[in-house]
Amino acid sequence: MQVPLLDLKPQYAQIKAEVDAVIAEVVDSQYFILGPKVAQLEREIAEYCGVQDAVGVSSGTDALIISLMAAGVGAEDVVLTTPYSFFATGGCIRRLGARPVFVDIDPTTYNISPAALIQTYEALPSNEKAAVKAVIPVHLYGQCADMDPILEWARAHQVAVIEDAAQAIGSEYRGRRAGSMGDYGCFSFFPSKNLGAFGDGGIVTVNSAAAAEALRVLRMHGSKPKYFHKLVGGNFRLDALQAAVVSVKLKYLDGWSRQRQKNAERYDQLFAASGLTERIGLPAVTQERHIFNQYVIRVPQRRDDLRRHLGEQGIGCEIYYPLPLHQQECFADLGYTEGHFPAAEQAAAETLALPIFPELSDAQLVYVVACIQAFFT
Ligand SMILES: *Cc1c(COP(=O)(O)O)cnc(C)c1O
Repeated sequence: MQVPLLDLKPQYAQIKAEVDAVIAEVVDSQYFILGPKVAQLEREIAEYCGVQDAVGVSSGTDALIISLMAAGVGAEDVVLTTPYSFFATGGCIRRLGARPVFVDIDPTTYNISPAALIQTYEALPSNEKAAVKAVIPVHLYGQCADMDPILEWARAHQVAVIEDAAQAIGSEYRGRRAGSMGDYGCFSFFPSKNLGAFGDGGIVTVNSAAAAEALRVLRMHGSKPKYFHKLVGGNFRLDALQAAVVSVKLKYLDGWSRQRQKNAERYDQLFAASGLTERIGLPAVTQERHIFNQYVIRVPQRRDDLRRHLGEQGIGCEIYYPLPLHQQECFADLGYTEGHFPAAEQAAAETLALPIFPELSDAQLVYVVACIQAFFT
């Protein structure tokens, strides 16, 4: 049996007629950049996330960079974030000339630890404390970070909160949606996210008219009116084809997320019944709405062997992420070494993401767990 990590074809088959029609509509209009389809998606995402406004951008990476720019982060500034995320989270900070200061994760959720955040901040020399302009909590794998203590700390120190919600559209924390809690919520429409476009795309959610306006100016090279530039922005625009596709898919998102949650529950059951929970750690659901962009198990010692074994059995799996950001070569000058963030380093050595996409069959889920059981016995 083959069980790919992700197969987008069955999802496309469900919505093909609708998606093909809106693509044809955009092509017929020959209106490709921003325009009514992007404006419509912005309204729909704002409503879905429970925020005032949303600004479509060219990718999740660009959502982060444009939010940092709007928050006024620049050279010599400091931004606190997790070392256990996709590279873009740390890379964007650096691209603006600012310095990422990493904070270790909570080993049960893999999200930034609020206690470690406060400790790290307090340990900074006073000139660096003053340089802290933003914090980027990441809602990793589809579950929100523990936001209340982060928001409280950020308010007390006038630090902007930029949620990296690229993996977490529709997930919730104490009744609030991902992307609605901080100053900026950054989403990606990369095809492997729960709400994926047919290419690159992203969006930033905000609760302030001034922030929305700043983002709309920055995504057009900082020009307003056209050809007059108060700021240096960039080309961070979302195109109409991607917006139209994402608009169609948004109507189905909650159904797909529910199916991912059901698959996760089924895995939990199968793992419990197999007695494997002595050997592997299952994902901890600590917030009410985890949308399972990934279902990630923890495998002490034998993770890489298990991954090889599953590959041989036709099962796709992946490591998110094998090397924490503080150990990346491009950040060597930041002075971090192995051992700086033990929880992140241990996660990088032990985590393994299993197939969780909505259209998996029960037979496939059973097969994955059976293969893991065979590996251990
Ligand atoms: C996917 C992702 C991004 C980047 O999104 P792109 O659309 O690929 O640029 C940023 N942060 C996290 C946590 C992601 O998973």
